[in-house]
Amino acid sequence: MTPASGASRALARVDLGAIADNVRRLQDVAGVPVCAVVKADAYGHGAVPVARAAQAAGAAWLAVSTAREAAQLRAAGLEGRILVMGALAPEEAQVALAAQADVVVWHAALLELPFPHVHVKLDTGMGRFGTRDAAHATALARRLAQEGRLAGLMTHFATADDREDPFFDQQLERFTAWVDGLRPELADDLVVHAANSAATLREPGARFDLVRPGVALYGLDPFGVDPDEHGLRPALELTSWVATVKRCRAGESAGYGRRFVAQRDTVVATVPIGYGDGWRRALTNNGEVLVRGRRVPIAGTVSMDAITLDLGPEGGARVGDEVVLIGTRDGERVDAEEVARRLGTINYEVTCGLLPRVPRRHVEGAA
Ligand SMILES: *Cc1c(COP(=O)(O)O)cnc(C)c1O
Repeated sequence: MTPASGASRALARVDLGAIADNVRRLQDVAGVPVCAVVKADAYGHGAVPVARAAQAAGAAWLAVSTAREAAQLRAAGLEGRILVMGALAPEEAQVALAAQADVVVWHAALLELPFPHVHVKLDTGMGRFGTRDAAHATALARRLAQEGRLAGLMTHFATADDREDPFFDQQLERFTAWVDGLRPELADDLVVHAANSAATLREPGARFDLVRPGVALYGLDPFGVDPDEHGLRPALELTSWVATVKRCRAGESAGYGRRFVAQRDTVVATVPIGYGDGWRRALTNNGEVLVRGRRVPIAGTVSMDAITLDLGPEGGARVGDEVVLIGTRDGERVDAEEVARRLGTINYEVTCGLLPRVPRRHVEGAA
């Protein structure tokens, strides 16, 4: 018996039409060009096809975290500006240079290398990369401008996803003050950028010349609630299939540790996806999936290669039926936000956490 999805075990189907729609949506909302953030293999969606789809939909820039990620995009033939946002060890700096990437600096060491396009980062409160010292950032920017290679001024927000937290406004004020002080003396083509997805959606004053959305490109809600609220379409669907269906009498169990013991006669389905695929063990007795458009609970321990479902006394599924772990069927939806809430994490980690054992299939879905 073969699974309905046509995949061997589990499949992540990535709708590039949704990626394109989300890029256009973010462009419309922002009113400035979009830098599509495709780090970490496009948050688990597959960096090369996602980057191509984003560019085709109008994304003006691409951004990644590491030099190797930039090199991977270049090797696949992607052109245009690619910003490497993370810290660069000396060997990585060489890789970034070879990839003709834009890089981010906050101290002078990296400037010994002949990077043509450099962005200066002010740490306005994220406390990670960048310099906290605005005078130092200004000195770096002036030096780079003199050398004809200052491409941008940037910062990154720590709390844009939390509308209640006033820290966002403080960071924005610090950054705006620095930019306003410096801009008059700098070239017109300087690109000022600060906004991740949440900031892009919530705050016009944070959009500057370019926005850097990541999570929203994938149709994931940066606020962790509901992507529909922002007109975003989830791009990733995770499916598997019913590999066995068996009766389970009251008192019988399924899975390691007997953490599901049937309280009544029921029917259990086994589905070949587990934590070896990135379907986390903390979803043990703590999750629902869709079978024939119906929500069905995960029953018992998530093992490395399988989960078991309690179909209920009537059963109602056959070997070969599709199982939807993330996605929508017949008006029922299990989204990455729901899975994240159950895991006590964020939607980002749900899609990034899907392991290479799950093949990604890229499709051009209809809108
Ligand atoms: C990851 C990242 C982004 C994108 O953030 P989202 O919350 O996914 O939109 C933007 N800027 C920087 C510096 C990042 O590291």
